[in-house]
Amino acid sequence: MIESALYIVPTPIGNLDDITIRAIDVLKAATLIAAEDTRHSKILLDKLGISGKKLISCHDHNEEQRASIIIEEVSNGAVVALISDAGSPLINDPGYRVVTLCSKANVKVVPLPGPCALITALEASALPTDKFMFNGFFPVKEKELLDTLAALTNVDYTAVFYETPRRIQATAEALAKVLPEHDITLCREMTKTFESFYRLKAKDAPDFLKADADRTKGEFVVAIGALKDEGNNAIDPKIKKALEELIKTSPVKAVTNVLAELTGVKKNDLYNLALELKQQQD
Ligand code: SAM
Repeated sequence: MIESALYIVPTPIGNLDDITIRAIDVLKAATLIAAEDTRHSKILLDKLGISGKKLISCHDHNEEQRASIIIEEVSNGAVVALISDAGSPLINDPGYRVVTLCSKANVKVVPLPGPCALITALEASALPTDKFMFNGFFPVKEKELLDTLAALTNVDYTAVFYETPRRIQATAEALAKVLPEHDITLCREMTKTFESFYRLKAKDAPDFLKADADRTKGEFVVAIGALKDEGNNAIDPKIKKALEELIKTSPVKAVTNVLAELTGVKKNDLYNLALELKQQQD
């Protein structure tokens, strides 16, 4: 017996077998299914043999209005499901406002675990998963993209982005320019026939993609590893340059303290590098 609530139901990100028994049970029990694109979801429901459901669209432009319909349905004792075109609703997909409004109205919200491109990519990225940041899609404007990447130079977590086939080459060029020594994983077409994981240094990504047109086809998740702790070698050249100039006129300790504070680079690494540079200057 499935109790009345709004259920957040993940759907496959490629392979149609990737749907949980619980997700199917909820979809079968639902009287109302709110979908990002009703025509798209109808195909999945047909494949699952689920018919006769009231389907309403729920996308970025009508969430508030849809929330009131959902609140009314659940308040009347119905089971309502929220699905997106693929993967987990709300993760770079509509649903956040619906959940907020439902919780404000004391309507029970039940999230179901299931397929999600972000998590699937992280698992196969071969990059650290203990600390990561999800950033949605990469910015499209070049300056914003370069700034976003530059901000990742010295972070200590894996950064994950979604990307489209149309933009992947340009993004690879930007990655090679700003974060050349970072390990990255391009996760392409996960769970589908041409599933591929390209694990390489960012500086090698543009040529690797250019070498075979098929490598830029399909959907992508890009995971960017933190620069490995290689002491002085891992320090951004711009920070190195600033250190080099500042120690000409100020005490090494004071300079490393300030730079460590400003850049997030370990004080010890900066100090060791400063001593090396000082020796070269003397
Ligand atoms: N909510 C979805 C999820 O949790 O997986 C993500 C929706 S977002 C609008 C769609 C983006 O997710 C795609 O452009 C792509 O970057 C990524 N994506 C979805 N399915 C994918 C797959 N099978 N392989 C690689 N990336 C995928």
